[in-house]
Amino acid sequence: MSEQNIILVTGGSGLVGKAIQTVVESEQPKNEKWIFLTSKDANLCDYASTKKLFETHKPTHVIHLAAMVGGLFHNMSHNLDFLRNNLHMNDNVLQISYEFGVKKVVSCLSTCIFPDKTTYPIDETMVHNGPPHPSNYGYSYAKRLIDIANRAYHEQHGCMFTSVIPCNVFGPHDNYNLESSHVIPGLIRKLYDSIERGEDIFAVMGSGKPLRQFIYSLDLAKLFLWVLRDYNEVDPIILSVDETSEVTIKELAEELAKAFDFKGKIAFDITKADGQYKKNCQQCKITSLFA
Ligand code: NAP
Ligand code: GDP
Repeated sequence: MSEQNIILVTGGSGLVGKAIQTVVESEQPKNEKWIFLTSKDANLCDYASTKKLFETHKPTHVIHLAAMVGGLFHNMSHNLDFLRNNLHMNDNVLQISYEFGVKKVVSCLSTCIFPDKTTYPIDETMVHNGPPHPSNYGYSYAKRLIDIANRAYHEQHGCMFTSVIPCNVFGPHDNYNLESSHVIPGLIRKLYDSIERGEDIFAVMGSGKPLRQFIYSLDLAKLFLWVLRDYNEVDPIILSVDETSEVTIKELAEELAKAFDFKGKIAFDITKADGQYKKNCQQCKITSLFA
């Protein structure tokens, strides 16, 4: 029997980590041991704490999800924290993975990090082609450096460290905190609160015009497992929905209102930011590899 793979998932308590855990638990048992971590197991911003974790678990593979993550408004007010926390976590996880001879690391970028001024649809070759949207430059530059590090670890040490680029994610275990959430859980929370309070106004921030692609976390989790087991390139790969499945924030708000059977008025607060107008990504790479 071949040696058992020990797969360490950083950020195992988050939206994406929980979805991966759900999918893994639904599969036929494989010769794999999965360890899902939270920030209580180690502070990944700290080198010694991260190293201790690797000493304990001796992983052969790492899915690196842990990050400071948040919606547009949290990014706008905390660009420095997003930059520093994510730089530290990513550097510690990749360097210690190298030191422990981890066979493969799959890290997580995001379609938020693509250049703001670009042509569409966006593909994997365009990550570094221009500045990101000014609202989330801290998060974006920290994430972009994962791709640079992956290439350098491969070139200098022969490591198989790669990354995926998901579009906006939603699903169970999302963050419903109004200060820091992404748009779907933020709007669900607001609708719920409005209905509980008997209000007839559903307040949506910004103009409602920006366009987004959304992937369900359990679908993303299945693609993550394919990347871990079968994708063997250092270059990143986009994990998104079809290019045509792009919706405006207005359409999203209307769908949510319908789902809640909310009969009141949807009000767009144009004094609030819109963020990046559009970040439509193509699926050509993953489609060609599955064909
Ligand atoms: P999330 O729900 O906010 O979860 C973040 C995870 O990171 C949690 O498990 C958290 O642990 C852990 N974490 C944060 N700081 C840590 C630290 N200092 N040390 C150790 N662990 C720490 O995030 P998510 O939405 O699942 O995102 C997962 C990955 O997908 C991230 O890399 C993110 O950039 C990427 N991504 C997300 C989206 C999206 O729409 N959500 C879109 C594209 C890409 P605790 O629970 O203990 O705090
Ligand atoms: P982004 O896709 O990285 O920009 O992040 P978000 O998930 O935060 O989506 C932001 C888009 O949704 C922007 O156009 C916001 O103006 C809009 N939006 C509307 N209402 C909300 C809300 O309550 N929370 C958040 N985060 N965004 C909102």
